[in-house]
Amino acid sequence: MDDVLDSVAEKAWNGERLTQEEALTLWENADFYSLAALANNCRGRLHPEPVVTYVSDRNINYTNICLSGCRFCAFYRPPEAEGGYVLSHEELAAKIEETLALGGTQVLLQGGLHPGLRLSYYEEMLQFIKGRFPIHIHGLSPPEIIHLARTEKLGLEAVLKRLQQSGLDSIPGGGAEILVDEVRSRISPNKCNSDEWLGVMESAHGLGMKTTATMMFGHLETIEQRLEHLLRLRELQDRTTGFTAFIPWTFQPDNTALQVEPATAMDYLRTLAMSRLVLDNITNIQVSWVTMGSGVAQVALQFGANDFGSTMIEENVVAAAGVRHRLSVEEIKRTILDAGYEPRQRNTFYELIAKRENNHKGHKEHKE
Ligand code: SF4
Repeated sequence: MDDVLDSVAEKAWNGERLTQEEALTLWENADFYSLAALANNCRGRLHPEPVVTYVSDRNINYTNICLSGCRFCAFYRPPEAEGGYVLSHEELAAKIEETLALGGTQVLLQGGLHPGLRLSYYEEMLQFIKGRFPIHIHGLSPPEIIHLARTEKLGLEAVLKRLQQSGLDSIPGGGAEILVDEVRSRISPNKCNSDEWLGVMESAHGLGMKTTATMMFGHLETIEQRLEHLLRLRELQDRTTGFTAFIPWTFQPDNTALQVEPATAMDYLRTLAMSRLVLDNITNIQVSWVTMGSGVAQVALQFGANDFGSTMIEENVVAAAGVRHRLSVEEIKRTILDAGYEPRQRNTFYELIAKRENNHKGHKEHKE
């Protein structure tokens, strides 16, 4: 086994593409620090500068009413249940004004699968935002788009085109969970299947929209199924090049119908490193400081991640599962600096938008 492992590790070190079998060998057998070294080497090839990016944005969940009833979700309310809401345009406007005032450049607009909201509601919401605010709308993950296509009895591309024309700029990779139907049927039986999720992304990429991809792990899936998820993304990315980033994050069980032990930091870091190595065609990998906390997030920067994700001026979904890691923009910058990297603000397309700050120089001096 040592010889096999060494030869796979050498391939990974040299940036050669790993087969499914090779990736599994590495995942199951490589020691923790070797995996970190391989992932960090890969990150260095793609991002030679010691820069860690972040985006200033706010999550806006326009409704929590949802008929899907995913077992891992602590956020939704069934239709007619107490506590359900749909945000008004005034509420949306207030949240976006606040986001812009705090230097935000995008909103992440997502909600439940509401049985009564038609495509015209979404078109009006997008047009309302775009007509008033200079802000990027990263919104409506694949399950919402599939739900809309079903409700309207329209094709995916037709729905996407109408949303795009109304102001939808890019699509978040939510709702991917694990892109293996055997797992999906146990954790979210009423949600789109893996082919449908990938189909939305392929159509969006075909229309010139960029998207991200996520993976929520640490529930009922196996390592082989995590790997299958990564390989399905890699295959689509080979054809479309539309994914800007990959965001793996761990399932948070509190207040959900799925009671399992949460993934450990070690499991998270190994999965992050393997994501970096397998997804050789997705440039950016985000840490999940919201679920793992700032300490693990700092370590994650040595396991292949190059982006700190969103400043999360508002976050509701993970908070509903009892996780309350919060960081201000200044704390994010300090956390990145303390890990030995330069924090830089980016836009949705991973382009640097803010000037280099003097504090990085200060940090170097401090370290020397
Ligand atoms: S994860 Fe999304 S689709 Fe599933 S119940 Fe929660 S809000 Fe609904």
